[in-house]
Amino acid sequence: MSIQRPRSEQLYAEALQHIVGGVNSPSRSFKAVGGGAPVFMKSAKGAHFYDVDGNRYIDYLCAYGPIITGHAHPHITAAITKAVENGTLYGTPTELEIELARMLKTAIPSMDKVRFVNSGTEAVMTTIRVARAYTKRNKIIKFAGCYHGHSDLVLVAAGSGPSTLGIPDSAGIPTSIASEVITVPFNDISGLQQALERWGDEVAAVMVEPIVGNFGMVMPQSGFLEELCRLARQAGALVIYDEVISGFRFHYGSAQTYGAFPDKQAIEPDLTALGKIMGGGLPIGAYGGRKEIMEQVAPLGPAYQAGTMAGNPASISAGIACLEVLQQPGVYEQMEALAVQLTEALQQSADRYGIPLTINRIRGSFSTHFCDHPVTNYEEAQDTDGEQFAHFFRLMLDQGICLAPSKYEAWFLTTAHTEQDIAKTIEAADRALQAMSAK
Ligand code: PMP
Repeated sequence: MSIQRPRSEQLYAEALQHIVGGVNSPSRSFKAVGGGAPVFMKSAKGAHFYDVDGNRYIDYLCAYGPIITGHAHPHITAAITKAVENGTLYGTPTELEIELARMLKTAIPSMDKVRFVNSGTEAVMTTIRVARAYTKRNKIIKFAGCYHGHSDLVLVAAGSGPSTLGIPDSAGIPTSIASEVITVPFNDISGLQQALERWGDEVAAVMVEPIVGNFGMVMPQSGFLEELCRLARQAGALVIYDEVISGFRFHYGSAQTYGAFPDKQAIEPDLTALGKIMGGGLPIGAYGGRKEIMEQVAPLGPAYQAGTMAGNPASISAGIACLEVLQQPGVYEQMEALAVQLTEALQQSADRYGIPLTINRIRGSFSTHFCDHPVTNYEEAQDTDGEQFAHFFRLMLDQGICLAPSKYEAWFLTTAHTEQDIAKTIEAADRALQAMSAK
């Protein structure tokens, strides 16, 4: 039984008159899955969305990551309400900011000092400025397919070849800026080595998503982060981890403190960027790192960064409340157990109907790649069947299962998903994959 969405279609036509592309972030459009009206949601509670036509969906988009306790979690909602009743914005310091800073530092000890901003983009952008200020160098090395927000420097893609100077990925970025960025394939230590041999004494920082969330969920291969840190330091460059997705996603901490990496010292970054989960669903970002590096930031040092809304009481309160929920014993294990059930069933269905499917799962998050090979870097993630993903996406949506409209995005479980949600999703996926095989 297919869901009808006449009101979403009507609203999309109206939105197109007023909002560029009808959406306030391009990833919300359905361009990558064949176009048409995106679903206009009206409300959300727990693991469920309700659209403007009254249809209910199980949510695996989870707002691209921040929603890990389910929507409208009572503890977070109460914290936000209490905060805004006391005033929304002061432009002065508050005690709450100290509390969240302390929680972040305890969970991620490489951050001696932190600063709150309003988005992941801002957090990453500033880590780059701070690294440049500290090293007095300009170039940045990043990895192909890792997304670091929409600031100029990081919207640069690889040219051809194993390690290349970047070409702008967006209009409006001067090639002079792109030429400060070197892009290397993820999981490719020799590519990084070559880049550092060529440009090492100009490189301010090597920036990476230590566990990738932006071309599917991809783990670094054994030894990759250790070698990355070693080579960067040898060249006098800083290491920046973009943990905007991985922060608090896989356990109470971030990728750099995750159990899969036994030698924590060998993979410790100099600077870390955070966002998403640590704001409990309200706008936030944070960056932090070694004391002497962070002391480059104004008012202590010469690197300027500021924000009218930074550290606002609503976002900070939501963040504290969200982390409190995540401190409860068993929450990550519960999400993982459900993700295991779901991914095993998905794989079985795909195998049964002869549809090549690679699933990368890390605890309660995973990505589905329509291909018959592993996905360990961006090139392999690109080499997957986008049309098949689009077909699957629509068949799932029409059965009330909401995924991100892109073959590169992950599925996220929350503490609110239940066995019943998983069972319903498994049935829907089986029907979808069967229909795809019959095509
Ligand atoms: N870094 C990573 C790893 C991200 O996934 C994102 C957003 N998806 C960002 C940075 C940018 O964060 P924001 O959208 O909050 O600016």
